[in-house]
Amino acid sequence: MAIDYPNRVSLANLPTPLQLLGRITELYSQPYAGPRIWIKRDDLTESAMSGNKLRKLEFIIAEAQSTGCDTLITCGGEQSNHCRATALAAAKMGLQSHLILRGGNKPSDGQGADGNLLVDYVAGANVSIYPLRQYVEGLPELFAHWAQHYEALGRRALCIPTGGSDGLGIWGYIRAAEELAEDCHRHKIEPEHIVCATGSGGTQAGLTLGGHLIGAGYQVTGYAVCDDTEYFVQKVTGDVEDWCRRYDKKLSPGCLNISVNDRYIGPGYGVAGKEVYETIATLAQTEGILLDPVYTGKAFHGLLQEIKAGTYAGCKDVVFVHTGGQFGVFPHRAHFPQP
Ligand SMILES: *Cc1c(COP(=O)(O)O)cnc(C)c1O
Repeated sequence: MAIDYPNRVSLANLPTPLQLLGRITELYSQPYAGPRIWIKRDDLTESAMSGNKLRKLEFIIAEAQSTGCDTLITCGGEQSNHCRATALAAAKMGLQSHLILRGGNKPSDGQGADGNLLVDYVAGANVSIYPLRQYVEGLPELFAHWAQHYEALGRRALCIPTGGSDGLGIWGYIRAAEELAEDCHRHKIEPEHIVCATGSGGTQAGLTLGGHLIGAGYQVTGYAVCDDTEYFVQKVTGDVEDWCRRYDKKLSPGCLNISVNDRYIGPGYGVAGKEVYETIATLAQTEGILLDPVYTGKAFHGLLQEIKAGTYAGCKDVVFVHTGGQFGVFPHRAHFPQP
């Protein structure tokens, strides 16, 4: 049965390539009788707008347009890829963007902005950076404040949750699951596992739900970059429930196998151990592909460790979804080996 999608604007260059990581497979998987490692290049959805958030924004912005919104308000860390993609996509579609960002403990004035934050400013986003505590304790109030602010100006804002992960945003990765099925068909593979970094859960939710809707045989596993398994099982379940509510869908309880690996978070969100930087360098040096230290570097490092540990023994093909994040490399410059 064909999936009945809501409106979508076209922002991403799709389909993104599915590529075999031949050299990495030979070096890191074959010695352990591991699977072939494939990579779904969602870092190539666009150039500046690159990454997984763009797939979600295609549906979110269509919703904004159809509900008469002229402003997008969203939130995230100072180095949020989601906020950067939102700022650029809003600009392209003629919308204003307002970013509610989580700063450190000290107030920030935006001076010396780096990585994603620099692009936010270049893209013309309105940026409000809040101290950590105010952000964590008062995020709903901050959204309400800015939504009212725009309303008083005669404008209308759509509030987008963290990472664009909710029942609306997950359409992006339901659609990606369909796309991936076509990629696999073209390459004549039937991967047993799909692996991605999971941060706000929407990518994992969409891939898991999409895989279920098309009857795919693989297991989707999210490698956590911040919270634990229990948190992500709940978050993914919540996003899928939100999707069911919004679009009047029924799923039988327990039909989704939500799999999370939370053993590679390291010191915490946005903080990586030496091994992650080494994995990033390894992939750059063997395959010419750049991972990021916050999401994809951790997840890919985790995947390689699990392959070594035999978790994927007996599998033929595993697909790693490269969700983007390259701008996040630059603020971490001090951790990379340099001459
Ligand atoms: C946001 C993000 C993720 C995580 O995706 P979620 O849908 O938020 O779980 C992974 N990788 C990168 C580069 C991201 O920016």
